[in-house]
Amino acid sequence: MLSLRPGVPGGRVDHPLEGKKVYIPPMAYGSGRAFAAVFRAIGVDADIVPPSDERTREIGARYTSGDECYPAKVTIGDFMKLLQTSDIDPDRLLLFMPTADGPCRFGQYAPYLRRILTASGYEQTEILSPTSYNSYHGLGELAGPFVRTGWRALLAADILQKLLLHYRPHEVVKGSIDAVYEECLADLCASIENAPTKPPLQLRAIRDSLVRCRDRFRAVPIRRDPSMPLIGVVGEIFCRLNTFSNEDLVRRLEEYGGEAWLSDITEWVWYTNAENFRKLRLTGRLISKDGLVAWIRQRVQRRDEHVLLEPFREEFSDCKEPDIYEVIECARPYLPNDGAMGEMVLNVGKAIYLAKRGADGIIDISPFTCMNGIVSEAVYPKISRDLGGIPIRNFYFDGTQSDLDRDLGVYIELARSYQRRKQFQRG
Ligand code: SF4
Repeated sequence: MLSLRPGVPGGRVDHPLEGKKVYIPPMAYGSGRAFAAVFRAIGVDADIVPPSDERTREIGARYTSGDECYPAKVTIGDFMKLLQTSDIDPDRLLLFMPTADGPCRFGQYAPYLRRILTASGYEQTEILSPTSYNSYHGLGELAGPFVRTGWRALLAADILQKLLLHYRPHEVVKGSIDAVYEECLADLCASIENAPTKPPLQLRAIRDSLVRCRDRFRAVPIRRDPSMPLIGVVGEIFCRLNTFSNEDLVRRLEEYGGEAWLSDITEWVWYTNAENFRKLRLTGRLISKDGLVAWIRQRVQRRDEHVLLEPFREEFSDCKEPDIYEVIECARPYLPNDGAMGEMVLNVGKAIYLAKRGADGIIDISPFTCMNGIVSEAVYPKISRDLGGIPIRNFYFDGTQSDLDRDLGVYIELARSYQRRKQFQRG
């Protein structure tokens, strides 16, 4: 029997990552930290990559050709900066780089990083790219606990981020909500790391942590302004969630008097589940062992989500996340059936869902040259017309943003103007 924790009496730590230190790229700050806690929970030393800064861009540009998408440049810049500045032996470092198949360039990130590492003299530094397609290769017996705990950590981190954006625009004392968020994140990470590994006990520990966090947020003085424009934020997952890449667009939007409803990470997990079922149906394998495994996995995920979200009914009563099939249905009239997939479906579908839930505007955050942003931008004018003129604006990022403040200032005025005549009310 494999012991998951070092120091467990009589236990052993003979897993494939023994002696390694895993570094997680901070796509979203909170989820990155929670994910590092997941590794530590299964007995693997892990941390989030140090914060991105100007050197990230500089180093990223040195190791890339300029044709790659912006998230690749930022991630590679962060990893290479870590290798150049860390005093940890590169043999011990394990860079966490998830992967996926499909037309998007994301699937190329891990092999591309491998080439750069080898060419730069870091042959001994390994990359960890566990996916369901390779049965979480590299994790050995840790795969089961990793997947289950990872899902719960993602859910919990998304909930904390939603709380942050729900409260921060209305805080009375500037900085008070950020401070509480940091406290809550530390509480959550400690709970993930130290919770018993038995699934029901672990779920209860994470839920208890979230309830403590909810009460901390509730205790902070706020002054809620019901006329504050609500802006739905969709777009490419990395650029949308990585505050360095998008130049902290959401915080700056708040400074202009807006509140953001930001699409989270778990949306992508629900979408990949839906895609999996679609492919099983297409290939006549819905009633098969694969179909049964997918169905059971989804049921377990839904149950976890229900348990963790339940204490937040009051907070999220007017900003409930949709069922993924509702998002897909919203996008259907605007994109070719079965021809369009991935982030463009989510961006378009979620923009419509958010507009119908009373959003006063939609912002799409995408890396410059990303096809998902370009396709979505092409259909937004029609969506805007169909929904009474809701302002939908693409913001592209490549590290050379010109005048985000001026653009946001103009945009928020458009949202206020739409707010006065919109047909869908909030809540
Ligand atoms: S969605 Fe766009 S920016 Fe993101 S990895 Fe794919 S191609 Fe690159």
